[in-house]
Amino acid sequence: MKIILLGAPGAGKGTVAKLLTEMDGSVQISTGDILRAAVKEGSALGREAKGYMDRGDLVPDELIMKIMEVRLQQPDCRKGFILDGFPRTIPQAEALNILLETLNIQLDSVVNLEVPTDVILDRLTTRRTCANPECQEIYNIKSNPPTADGKCKKCGTPVVQRDDETEAAIMNRLDTYNKKTSPLIGFYESRGLLKNFLSLSSKDTVAQIGKTLSR
Ligand code: ADP
Ligand code: ZN
Repeated sequence: MKIILLGAPGAGKGTVAKLLTEMDGSVQISTGDILRAAVKEGSALGREAKGYMDRGDLVPDELIMKIMEVRLQQPDCRKGFILDGFPRTIPQAEALNILLETLNIQLDSVVNLEVPTDVILDRLTTRRTCANPECQEIYNIKSNPPTADGKCKKCGTPVVQRDDETEAAIMNRLDTYNKKTSPLIGFYESRGLLKNFLSLSSKDTVAQIGKTLSR
């Protein structure tokens, strides 16, 4: 499948994307994961992105497009890809249209995950992430806790609250989503690509997406 996943921060894009890759071997491309890895590495990209990310602001479009131009041409994308966290703005979506046309790639659909705001807020404040950049497994202190001493079940590294998961940064991310990213829903709807899914359980949502896309 070649799809874009849309949804507010905390809508579960990462979890849904991972489960979808297991269905048909498509790769998950998360710009958030790519940026966090760059920050950990301390590369030029990471140093430029860190300030924006810690405040919960978007990283500039040009930087993101440079990453995606390279990423979408890597051979593992031929089987299919799930874009998770990209595009995030109308200019990114327009640049992506041009890039896909140049690469002769056609999107199957744009999957929009709809989640009520109170559910989103609860999820974001209870979320923890494995600090190992190679792992980054996501936990939830209520519904999917790490080990009793706060370590990742997969790799044993301590799980932490991301810098952008303080309350102020969370409010800023939601505000940025409403202003800059939610217009993409209309953008893709008018192009006949949008499919909406009410998403409360990632597993149910993935099953529904699978059914809809295989039709
Ligand atoms: P979220 O949980 O907010 O969906 P992500 O893991 O997708 O978080 O992204 C984390 C941060 O990385 C964002 O708050 C933003 O600063 C930056 N980022 C990720 N993807 C993009 C993008 N497509 N455009 C601009 N900034 C991005
Ligand atoms: Zn881990």
